[in-house]
Amino acid sequence: MRVLLVEDDDRLAAALISALARHGHQVVRAGRADDALRLKDSAEFVLLDLGLPDMDGLDALRRLRRVSTVPVIVVTARTEERDVLRGLRSGADDYLVKPFRTAELVARMGAVLRRGTRPLAAAGRAVVEVGDTRIDLETRQITVNGAQVALTRREFDVLALLAREPGVVRSREEILDEVWGDVLMSASRSLDVHIAGIRAKTGRPQLVETLRATGYRLAVD
Ligand code: CA
Repeated sequence: MRVLLVEDDDRLAAALISALARHGHQVVRAGRADDALRLKDSAEFVLLDLGLPDMDGLDALRRLRRVSTVPVIVVTARTEERDVLRGLRSGADDYLVKPFRTAELVARMGAVLRRGTRPLAAAGRAVVEVGDTRIDLETRQITVNGAQVALTRREFDVLALLAREPGVVRSREEILDEVWGDVLMSASRSLDVHIAGIRAKTGRPQLVETLRATGYRLAVD
C-alpha cells in the first residue's frame, strides 16, 4: 500500500519508513503540511503528525478532508482528550499517541481499512445551490442572483462548513471547533457576528437558519 507519512522528525520518520517497509508498504514522506497536501492524491493511507513546521496538523487534516476520503491516522505526542476529539472530528479515522509500537500502528491501519471508505463531505459536490445563491466550495466564490458576494475568509469557512451538508444542523461548538479551532470559544459572540455578516452580505437572511439552543444549518430548497 502507498502510505503518505507526514512527519517532520527525521529520526522518527526513518524508523517508521523502515518498519512499514517490512510490512510491505511503500512510504512517501512529507516533512511539511503543504508537501503533504501536494502528495495526497498518490496516497492510499495517510499517517499525520499534528506538530508540523508550517501548519497545524488539524488544519491540514481539514483541508485534506475537503477533497479526499483517504484513510487518515493521526500520530501525535499530544495526549489531551480535547486534541484527540478535535482530531477525530476533523476527519481522522483513528488516533495514536507517541510512542507506540509498529505492531499497534499496523493493526490500527488494518482496522481502519476494514471499516471501509468514509463518504466524502457534500458527496463530492463542489457547488451548492440554494435558491439564487450559489456557493462554490472549490473556488470559494459565492454569487447571489449572478452577482459576486465578498465574504471574509472566516465567513466563507462558516458557510462552507454548513454547505457541505445542507440541511444538517451543526452545533455552535462544532462550528467554533472546526473554523476557529477552539471549542472553548463557545461563549464568544464571534460566531453570531460572522453569521450576521453572511446574512447581510448575501442579502439572503434565510440562507443560514438558526435553530434555537441547537445550532445552525444551511437552508435547503
Ligand atoms: Ca512533529
